[in-house]
Amino acid sequence: MNSMNKIQKVLIANRGEIALRILRACKGLGIKTVAVYSTADKCLKHVRLADESVCIGPHPSTDSYLNIPALISAAEVTHADAIHPGYGFLSENADFAQRVEESGFIFIGPRAANIRVMGDKVAAIEAMQKSSVPCVPGSDGALGTNDIENMEIARGIGLPIIIKASGGGGGRGMQVVEKEEDLLGSIELAKSEGLSFFGNAEVYMEKFLTTPRHVEIQVLADEHGNAVHLGERDCSMQRRHQKVVEEAPAPGITPELRNKIGAVCAEACKAINYRGAGTFEFLFENDEFYFIEMNTRVQVEHPVTEMITGIDIVREQIMIADGQKLSFTQDDVEIKGHSVECRINAEDPNNFMPSPGTITQYHVAGGLGVRVDSHVYNGYMVPPHYDSMIGKLITFADTRIGAIIKMQNALDEMVIDGIKTNIPLQARIMEDETFREGGMNIHYLEKMLGDLTND
Ligand code: ADP
Repeated sequence: MNSMNKIQKVLIANRGEIALRILRACKGLGIKTVAVYSTADKCLKHVRLADESVCIGPHPSTDSYLNIPALISAAEVTHADAIHPGYGFLSENADFAQRVEESGFIFIGPRAANIRVMGDKVAAIEAMQKSSVPCVPGSDGALGTNDIENMEIARGIGLPIIIKASGGGGGRGMQVVEKEEDLLGSIELAKSEGLSFFGNAEVYMEKFLTTPRHVEIQVLADEHGNAVHLGERDCSMQRRHQKVVEEAPAPGITPELRNKIGAVCAEACKAINYRGAGTFEFLFENDEFYFIEMNTRVQVEHPVTEMITGIDIVREQIMIADGQKLSFTQDDVEIKGHSVECRINAEDPNNFMPSPGTITQYHVAGGLGVRVDSHVYNGYMVPPHYDSMIGKLITFADTRIGAIIKMQNALDEMVIDGIKTNIPLQARIMEDETFREGGMNIHYLEKMLGDLTND
């Protein structure tokens, strides 16, 4: 017996650490689990721990983790009630969410309509502006084909500007323009990238912020019109637009600033009839927030928020999908202490080349305030076909420096032999004096890496 209304069995449409994370949340709620896996993933930890498992296809993601008919069939044959998409793969695919619900299953995520709007950046910005979420000064919609008008828009905003593909993602389809003579060529380039990568040639223009930080707000909203924010995360330590270290709370964000922007995000959720967990991503410069996009799924870095609020975000996602009301209000959300997350990747720390292979020795870090979210184990073979992230090391302490020191010790304790990992790089970051000061902008890590390679 459990306290769920509709969800007794969840199919986990993902792999790796997030599949294990979802399995743990299901077990905590007394819900049965179905693991799905590609032929390369039979030995995944959550596959062994799930109540049932189904092979959904060969190793290419398009034939397995992105194979919608195979996933729906697996849910049918195992009589699952709901599907959790995790992050990546089909998690932000509105057609998938729709197909899941049309096939009679519960999608553990937002309504398909919300996913669709947020997947189109021009539509997302429009929706946000209507809800008074602060956005980057820009072109107010997609650019037309009139060169003179586009030049006027750019001059109005003031160079430098950035051209972005409306369907873009993963840092693709963006062009920074510093000089007027480059504008028209960059628009064409962004259009053709948008078309070839995302099947959408629509582009728009934004002011290019030169030294912003990446600060994002976690929200949770239920089907009954309740929405709360769980404070912010700082994810400014990035390489090639990929987050490397995340932390919560963000250094220097006062409770007043947090509550103000958090309340705006929670209100926006209500205005767009949002359901589930979500993240409002902002660039933060000169004490101002500028919305860039909303992620309509659980994020890799959700644990740092869990550590400082004590709220299990994946558990909440499942309970919301079950139709339950949020069990707490905004006033109940208390932010305590500081948490840091280091992504652990199977890659060469010097040249960032993926390093798949068999883990021959694995010793995990531990102790008070140390959390390891990872699916790997002694003898596990990291397959070459998927993302190189093999886990996350998360620490928690009363203070930021306390969490960083715990992270240094935890990184020291971790032993992952047989493959290369970025643990040495994370250790360098943790001892970096500027990182320790906190509040670096999104360019800092690449600058630091450049300095390291020039040593
Ligand atoms: P994607 O969906 O491809 O990740 P985002 O809109 O989230 O695209 O932007 C990705 C990254 O690009 C941001 O984290 C930031 O580093 C940079 N970026 C995006 N918009 C701007 C801007 N207006 N000014 C400066 N940098 C930007």
